[in-house]
Amino acid sequence: MRVTLCQATLGGAIVLNLLLLFCVWRGPGWRGAGGSPPSCRLPRGVPGVTVLLRDFEDFENDLVGTARSFASLPVPVLVAAEEAPYPPVPLPPGVRLLPLRPVAHRPPVHPESHLRTLHVALVPDGTRAVPGLLERMRDALEEEGAGHARLAVAPVGTGLPPRCLELRVEPRSWTARYGPPGEPGACGAVEGPAVLLLRTRDLLALPFPLARPVPAAIFIQAALRGWGLRVVPAAFPAPHLPPVSPHGRWKAEKLGENRRRQLMRDLGVKREVLEDGGERWYGCSKETARCFGTVHTRTPQYLLAGRWTPPCCLRALRETARHVAGALEAAGVRYWLEGGSLLGAARSGDIIPWDYDVDLGIYREDVGKCRWLAAAAAGEAVEDTEGFLWEKATEGDFYRVHYSRSNRLHVDLWPFYPRGGVMTKDTWLGHPQDVEFPESFLLPRVPMAFAGFTAMAPNNARAFLELKFGPGAIENPEYPNPDIKRLGQD
Ligand code: ZN
Ligand code: MG
Repeated sequence: MRVTLCQATLGGAIVLNLLLLFCVWRGPGWRGAGGSPPSCRLPRGVPGVTVLLRDFEDFENDLVGTARSFASLPVPVLVAAEEAPYPPVPLPPGVRLLPLRPVAHRPPVHPESHLRTLHVALVPDGTRAVPGLLERMRDALEEEGAGHARLAVAPVGTGLPPRCLELRVEPRSWTARYGPPGEPGACGAVEGPAVLLLRTRDLLALPFPLARPVPAAIFIQAALRGWGLRVVPAAFPAPHLPPVSPHGRWKAEKLGENRRRQLMRDLGVKREVLEDGGERWYGCSKETARCFGTVHTRTPQYLLAGRWTPPCCLRALRETARHVAGALEAAGVRYWLEGGSLLGAARSGDIIPWDYDVDLGIYREDVGKCRWLAAAAAGEAVEDTEGFLWEKATEGDFYRVHYSRSNRLHVDLWPFYPRGGVMTKDTWLGHPQDVEFPESFLLPRVPMAFAGFTAMAPNNARAFLELKFGPGAIENPEYPNPDIKRLGQD
């Protein structure tokens, strides 16, 4: 017997009705502590697009206009917010609020149980619907030849085609890079307001599906997964609304900045490199704490997490190294690049990309020549005129210069003294590379490029490094403590 499409549809509808009838018959008594049983929920993944309004301010918004416009298509419209907007917004009939923040005396929130359609469109505040355009976006994802596209984008409020940018996100260096698209149509992000449409299951598979600002959150997470993006050559209109008040604009900018900062923290991005070469930093500064905690067994936490030194920390370390070298030179203190810092200088003229401090050797007899070192030697931590903090280490006879009082990124200063032609010191922390060496390496010291300035280094850096780290130290990079974690182990 052949079953026609019509018969199959009819059959399906009857089964569905029977199921619903069954649920109604069992009534609310069916609901146990865990809510309604799965068999009585509506089937998942019905064709269609749910419109999700997520990016809006509580004040001076266009929620009502935007929600009404899309609800009239008609498509399901959800307003997702931490809590109900305040002052309250009279949402049009049928438009539901999805409060995201858990409330202790209410059942937990499950956004997935509110998104029943196969596709979802994230729509910015102040957008107007266009009949058929959401379907065109969906088709752009689902039609043959869509390739690896998982995201469809249509601009809002402009007659111009949207500006595409390539987006590369490098978790290891905590960096997101925007650039001109490598090949025509290759697009990882779009500038300006846009409607983003994707499969509901893709959205819900993201670790931060409803993070804000929505475009940055989705573009970065999509880039990390290699999801393609398709731009639909049509725009949603934006109505001419009364201008936002100056105070409202100021408030929105502040809130937007904070949201972006929070988002980047969640996504592990500490630096965005923009198309024009400009940069946005989200990491540590003089006023914040260091990005990572106390280092145990020479293996900082970020290495265990498969990442290298955050770029903000490298930047602060370079700045501290340059400052300290300048202060020592000005005071006539003989110093030289030591340990991992000399290794980095020999390899790349910079700090090793996973290193967490800078090491300099100094002649112990020169300590008194530098007022900051002398003060530290007298047992008093002292902040210099540029906010760097000099102190004697509690772990032994050496000194530390911190980036600031709160940000403990530092340069270690190791005081050596000559004894019978050999440089030795009083504190040994048991690191394999921490050994005595002939003073001839310092007679003379030689200039060497390091971290953006010219530092002083032992002559014959290669021999010095192989004495300390073993043969091939320059050519064969390795993490500081391979017993804990080896390079290339991720
Ligand atoms: Zn940092
Ligand atoms: Mg070091």
